[in-house]
Amino acid sequence: MISVFRPASLVRATVALGAVVALAACASPAASPSPSSTVVPSATVSPTPTPSPTPTPTETFDYLAHPLDDATSIWVIVNKMFPLNPKSWVPTDLTTLSAIPEGSDQQMRAEAASALTQLYQAAKAQGAGFKISTAYRSYSFQKALYDPRAASRGVAVADRTTARPGFSEHQSGLAVDIYNVTACRLQQCFGDSAPGKFVAAHAWEYGFVIRYPKDKEGVTGYVWEPWHLRYVGTDLSTAMHDSGVTTLEEFFGLPNAPDYAETP
Ligand SMILES: [Zn+2]
Repeated sequence: MISVFRPASLVRATVALGAVVALAACASPAASPSPSSTVVPSATVSPTPTPSPTPTPTETFDYLAHPLDDATSIWVIVNKMFPLNPKSWVPTDLTTLSAIPEGSDQQMRAEAASALTQLYQAAKAQGAGFKISTAYRSYSFQKALYDPRAASRGVAVADRTTARPGFSEHQSGLAVDIYNVTACRLQQCFGDSAPGKFVAAHAWEYGFVIRYPKDKEGVTGYVWEPWHLRYVGTDLSTAMHDSGVTTLEEFFGLPNAPDYAETP
């Protein structure tokens, strides 16, 4: 069923995105060759045909700049509804995070690794340096992580904290968990630490988002993880920062992903 359901969802998302882009294009003077008989000074034209109840990103943002369903895309959506395709996907440009403490045996895709190194250097300069917990995880690594937890604590409990293999953002090569002290490694107290506060405030400047924000478990499927950064590039991280929309699902108008659509 998932193979039928998944593309249909993406088609709906694409249609929705097209509608958003169309509205934005209509509002742009440069892109409105409307044959309207009434000439109205552009300064008086409402930027949108209907009032929007929520903050919207800049009208010039290109929602279609990168695909959301391609494992090679820096915007790829990986959550409990949308696994990587194929689930066994392996990035081809993994780069060691050698310039970051405890990163010598950890990898991200080249573009993300470069951006994370810059973020680290900025954080360190502010006394908020951090270490790498884990970055890229292969399908088999995630399976070795998930299966024992599901066996010992049950699928429902495991699913709240650990992604199933093929459904982990870490497998995309674009996600990383960072920490400073062991006591707050993979713990929410990281959010109160100097590096936790630094990345919450500045990660977007380097193309990262805090992928699992506070109080968004019903959208992302995960509790608040102030340590989990996802690289999306500065175009998207800036647009999300400016709009105040904190999740990829909400920004792109995708369905919430609180649970898996299939059993493991
Ligand atoms: Zn993580």
